[in-house]
Amino acid sequence: MNDTIVALATAPGVGAIAVVRLSGENCIALAAELFAGKDLRTQASHSVHFGNLMDGDYLVDEVLATVFKNPHSFTKEDSVELSCHGSPYIVNRIIQLLVRSGARLAEPGEFTQRAYLNGRFDLAQAEAVADLIASENEAAHATALNQMRGGISNEIKNLREKLVHFASMIELELDFSEEDVEFASREELKALIEKIDVVLVQLIDSFQLGNVIKNGVPVVIVGKPNAGKSTLLNALLEEEKAIVSDIAGTTRDIIEDELNINGVKFRFIDTAGLRETKDQIEAIGVERAEQKMQEASLIMYLFDLSTESSEVIHQTEQMLQDKGKPYILVGNKLDKIEKEEVALSENEHYVSISAKSKDGVDRLKKLIWTKSQMDNFQPGNVVVTNARHYQSLVNTQNSLHDVLKGIDNKITNDFMAQDIRHALHFLGEITGEITTDDLLANIFSKFCIGK
Ligand code: GDP
Repeated sequence: MNDTIVALATAPGVGAIAVVRLSGENCIALAAELFAGKDLRTQASHSVHFGNLMDGDYLVDEVLATVFKNPHSFTKEDSVELSCHGSPYIVNRIIQLLVRSGARLAEPGEFTQRAYLNGRFDLAQAEAVADLIASENEAAHATALNQMRGGISNEIKNLREKLVHFASMIELELDFSEEDVEFASREELKALIEKIDVVLVQLIDSFQLGNVIKNGVPVVIVGKPNAGKSTLLNALLEEEKAIVSDIAGTTRDIIEDELNINGVKFRFIDTAGLRETKDQIEAIGVERAEQKMQEASLIMYLFDLSTESSEVIHQTEQMLQDKGKPYILVGNKLDKIEKEEVALSENEHYVSISAKSKDGVDRLKKLIWTKSQMDNFQPGNVVVTNARHYQSLVNTQNSLHDVLKGIDNKITNDFMAQDIRHALHFLGEITGEITTDDLLANIFSKFCIGK
């Protein structure tokens, strides 16, 4: 467990500098053997030293060596970071040299795993490190940072502590089963579980938001061929990604692109027209459009203001309402008609635009934001972004509901103690009080090497 591990910590490829990272009991001595400069063994923690990295008599590179002494390092072990010139050749040579000298190549996520096993943070926080590295926008960054700093862990630990108290009281009653004693008031236990349930519901509900923060809000754009879907997509993305053409039904493939609105990622999915068709290829496209509508968080239906009859628009709105999810009706080609010809006035479901001149596109963006309920997102809130945590929270909730049922049905203490233990188990899974080797391997294998 304390053997010296080594990996490139910076991104692979050519760079100004690259950082090779070492961690483990003997890593300072190991680096010192190869480092011609001050003796790294006698240097203070968090100090940086310039020197030559030598392979025998051969100068591999001039490097800066940063020394960290346990427990004041990321892994809480002795660590060394060698900043070298950022050539993949130099990096490989240095890593090979270190491996020849006794270090071992680190597994993916092994530095973070050691940090977790040495008590730097709990499992949920360790997982947030991976999310933080993967974050691409403000919302994903804020939630990952919050979680890494203990957001969800603190909530879970609070809940767990309260339950542990009751569990121990009930276990105590088991010891006195001959006598008719009640250390844990059933009324208080019920009240506590109900309180915990409120928090659990909040956390469980936040997963939907957490999921879109992490993966992007899927918005599907549908409408008849030539309504202007590709043009609108281009206007939103402000670049030419989709194919724009005058021939009906040319956008056969689903095109997906990402757009950042107020720091949140939105995934726009352009589909083939929802037109009844005998054309084989297009029929497949229509089927996929239906499927994309099922999967989307928001449906944007685009129609041509200059050609669509109000009857059809009305039917379309009915169809969208029947789907039971947030939708926006967008009347396009405003530039082609006289203002007074617009049959509908704008409301929370409807906006008229010109994708071509970008008139109204900003109003549409605002509507997309409110319709996808992103107003609920506050950067400081605890948001569940991890499917594993979500599952454990749902399992906790089910176990606690069993406890409540048990109280009502006056089940015996040993069964009740068991149900509470189940709930504690599931809560413990989130923060890592309860783990298995498989679970850890599964979590850390998703990290990159060097983290
Ligand atoms: P799609 O089939 O729904 O993807 O439609 P396209 O984006 O390919 O557009 C079809 C045609 O309508 C193209 O010739 C566009 O230039 C034109 N078009 C799209 N939006 C507008 C608009 O706001 N005003 C006008 N006048 N033409 C538009």
